[in-house]
Order: sequence, then structure tokens, then C-alpha cells
Amino acid sequence: MIRLTIPDFDEQEYAEVKEVLASGFLVQGPKVAEFERVIADYIGARHAIAVSSGTAALHLALVALDIKAGDEVIVPDFTFPATANVVELVGATTRFVDIKTDDFCIDVGRIEAEINENTRAIIPVHEFGHPADMDVIVNLAQKYNLKIIEDAACALGAEYKGRKAGTIGAAGCFSFHPRKSITMGEGGIIATGDDRLASRLKILRNHGLDQAGGEASFTAAGFNYRLTEFQAALGIVQAGKMEQINAQRRKIVDYYNKGLKDTCGINLPVEKEDCRHAWQTYHLLLDESISRDGLIGRLREDGIESNFGAHAVHAQPYYRRKYDLDDSKFGRAIKAYNQGLALPLHPQLVRRDLDKVIRCIRGHLNERA
Ligand SMILES: *Cc1c(COP(=O)(O)O)cnc(C)c1O
Repeated sequence: MIRLTIPDFDEQEYAEVKEVLASGFLVQGPKVAEFERVIADYIGARHAIAVSSGTAALHLALVALDIKAGDEVIVPDFTFPATANVVELVGATTRFVDIKTDDFCIDVGRIEAEINENTRAIIPVHEFGHPADMDVIVNLAQKYNLKIIEDAACALGAEYKGRKAGTIGAAGCFSFHPRKSITMGEGGIIATGDDRLASRLKILRNHGLDQAGGEASFTAAGFNYRLTEFQAALGIVQAGKMEQINAQRRKIVDYYNKGLKDTCGINLPVEKEDCRHAWQTYHLLLDESISRDGLIGRLREDGIESNFGAHAVHAQPYYRRKYDLDDSKFGRAIKAYNQGLALPLHPQLVRRDLDKVIRCIRGHLNERA
């Protein structure tokens, strides 16, 4: 089976994890501090606070920014549901906005219509690793005094006009789940340039424990969102390979693009001017005449794993029940959910695998025609 993704671990990772296990010190220590420094330096952030997952990063950012019941938060409809779930978890109201079908990010032209006196924040998602239109979002945030929390879960290494994704808003949240380009099983990090926000995040991730001034006291009802030392040790090695991993992913993307261009019924992914795509996912948009699920099934028979890209979150049962939104406002997210196809993308893929994926897709689509 040609897999969608497999983590890129070798002897280096095994050795580092073994060393941590032998040290007997397992949770949020020197390895976590080092991992935070490595990531902060790489993206050019003043602070990076490691937590247990990308979802924990988003949740903690909302809590630390004091987003709460009565507030509204703008979220793109096409994403992993965690982006909206965290809004619900702090008791705020989710306002979904449709996307564009070129870069699959929020349609910034539709944000302003959803802003009202209760709106407090926007969570742009850099979908599949392509940066959202941050200039427009920053202008709207200034005009209406909103916080920006970047969902950069897929976007480590992505750039918008020369700035790394995750360093433009008040907070930028990353994930290290195995579906992302570098991984430590589970893990997340929050980037911020704000000293006060950083210290609040550190207190909240560790039960509300405030150790400033040498005296330990619980100054908030916090969480346990700490990262372990062995995860951070994995993360440090993975971060060292990141440029190489991202370069290999980019090469694979170029190869797919060359092999699949001019295939009937396929829209290739784009990388817009002034943007650097992190290519967490290679995501095709199929014409509506093609059964995406049918194609996933045929590819599985060929020994190729593929999948849908992301959800139209407003249509998930929880959100359907709570908000009962009109589908016609989310036509593009629904199309992307129904017709999007993610192909295998990881550094272990060899040319023979890529040729097979291209040949099978072209074969199935031509057969149909
Ligand atoms: C993966 C992902 C998350 C959640 O990250 P976890 O580490 O799995 O909790 C959130 N938002 C987006 C866009 C993601 O792709």
C-alpha cells in the first residue's frame, strides 16, 4: 500500500528518546525548553509555548485571550473541526465563513458581513499549509479591534509576504500530529510576540501554577496541557530535518503537478504569489461529474491510500443541531468537502510510487471519459 503519510523516524530519534527515558525526567523539562527555542528561532517568534496538541494550543490561546461566553469568533467552514470546537469549548459562538476553492482558505471578502458587536476574534486557517490572505484579515482586525489566532496546524514553514505563518496574529498555533510534516505523535506549540500573553499561556498549561518571583501559587484554574520530554526530544530531531523534509515534499508536489496537469476533471493545487506553501497536503479538487469516493475506492484497489481533505464543519451533526445554517452560504466548503482528494505525500515516496499514483488517476479518469 502506498500510504498517505508515514512519519520519518530513524536511529537518531530512537537514541534521543532512549536517552530521555533513561534520565528518568519525563515531563516539561530541558528538552521541552530546547524544542521551544528551536521552533521560536525557526519561525522568528519571540516566544513559543509547547503544549500537548494543536487543539490544546488553540484552546489555550482562546482562554488566555479571554474569549468567553457571549463572544463570537469567525472561523472558516472548511477545516478540521478542532478549529471550531475550541470556540465552543470556551462557551463562545462560532461564526462560519465560506472559503475559496483555489487555496481553500477563508474567503476574506465575506468576513466583514459576519462581524457584529460581539465579535472578538478571527481564526484564519492556513489550510493544507497555504497561508490565508493575512493583509485583509489584519486590516479587519484593526478596524474592529479583533484578536487574530492563526490556525497554523498544517503550516510550519509556510510564508506570507516573507513572514512565517503563525507569527502574524496575536497567537499562532501549530500541531505535530502524525498527519503533519514533522511529528512527535501528539504535540503542539503556540507562537506569540506578546510577553504577557506568553506568561499567561505558561501558567494556564500547567494547572494555573505561577512560579514568578520564586514562590509557587495557583493564580488561575488551569489545564494540564504539558508536553513530555520524550516527545520534545523527538521534536528537536524532527525540527533539524524540517528543511530537508519540506524540500522533498515540494519536489513531490512538482512531480504530481507535472504528471497530472491536463488531466480531465482535475484542478491542481495552487501556490499564490507572495506565498510559500508548506505542502502539508497535496489536495486536488475534482469536477462534480467525478465521484470522489468512487475514485478513493478504485485507488485503494490499486494499493494507493487517498482521502478527503477537510470537513465542511457547519454540516457536522453538533453544528447542524446548534446553528442549523443554510448550506447555500457554504457552497464552496461543501464542494471542497465532497470533491477534494488528498494524495500520498511524504519523503519516503520514490519515483515509482509517484508514477503509479499518476498513472492510476489518469487511467481511472480517462476510462470514465
Ligand atoms: C491537525 C489540525 C488541528 C488539530 O491538531 P491536533 O494536534 O491533532 O490536535 C487543528 N486545526 C487544523 C487545521 C489541523 O489540520
